[in-house]
Amino acid sequence: MNQLPERLVLLGHPLGHSLSPLLQNAALRAASIPLTYEPVDVPRSVLDDTLAELRRKRAAGNVTIPHKEAVRAACDRLTDTAKAVGAVNTFWTAVDGALVGDNTDVGGFEAAARELGAPHENEIVALLGAGGAAAAVLHAMEGWPGAHVRLYSRTRSRAEELVKRFKASAEIMRSAELAVAHATLVVNATPVGLRDDTVPVGVESLADGSAVLDLAYRVNETAFVRDARAGGHKAVDGLTMLVEQGALSFERWFGVAPDRGAMWDAVKSIR
Ligand code: NAP
Repeated sequence: MNQLPERLVLLGHPLGHSLSPLLQNAALRAASIPLTYEPVDVPRSVLDDTLAELRRKRAAGNVTIPHKEAVRAACDRLTDTAKAVGAVNTFWTAVDGALVGDNTDVGGFEAAARELGAPHENEIVALLGAGGAAAAVLHAMEGWPGAHVRLYSRTRSRAEELVKRFKASAEIMRSAELAVAHATLVVNATPVGLRDDTVPVGVESLADGSAVLDLAYRVNETAFVRDARAGGHKAVDGLTMLVEQGALSFERWFGVAPDRGAMWDAVKSIR
């Protein structure tokens, strides 16, 4: 096992909705690691001071909305994945004192996609949203042979900037309905449906046989997942991605695999 950090934190603002403390503390207990994973709600104005203090404590942790890009900029070293995605969701302090940033959302997304059997050959992915999570999806898809992306974002300029950064074959669509037509996999990478029963696109627009991966998760799943399943589509929410990105972060911090069963037991209360 790597040398233990003095603190293990989740940085974000606000942090009310996060299940990460639940699942990481379950993994720490299962591995008998004498640390507590602490949520640290930090506004942007004090993020730099907080990071300086955490570096002194040789801290490690996760980063969530809205600090993933700012922490990437503050890191001394980045993994190739964090560089490609442009955002850091996992960091640690190296032996030489450097702050190192990685992005395990990519591996988390890949695990959730595998639950749906993806990638199939020549997968056509309707990607809704053009933020940090969409960047992780596009980076993962660079390794999907023959895959093509139909990207819709309500702010078109953001979609244009995003597709320029990735090798995945992609086109920008004028509406969510056009994006999902003919897609074999629909990925919701917007926060629509995270806090209420709104959906990013009506399931009547989905192509027959297409699968849905909603990166959002909530108690009793999202309305998009429930509607898609009722319409005969395979569908999963973002809980697998959450658990897997957390498991991969744990591996980066401690050099050992966590007990994924203990992590799932900790979060299944929201099912
Ligand atoms: P982000 O960087 O803020 O990007 C959000 C994207 O959604 C932007 O393209 C934004 O468009 C769009 N959007 C926001 N509100 C919208 C609305 N009402 N209607 C249509 N589009 C809207 O956020 P992110 O980090 O990419 O996260 C996106 C989602 O993925 C969130 O639900 C987050 O919880 C989820 N996520 C899940 C996991 C997991 O482990 N399951 C990990 C990461 C993210 P504009 O540019 O026009 O605002």
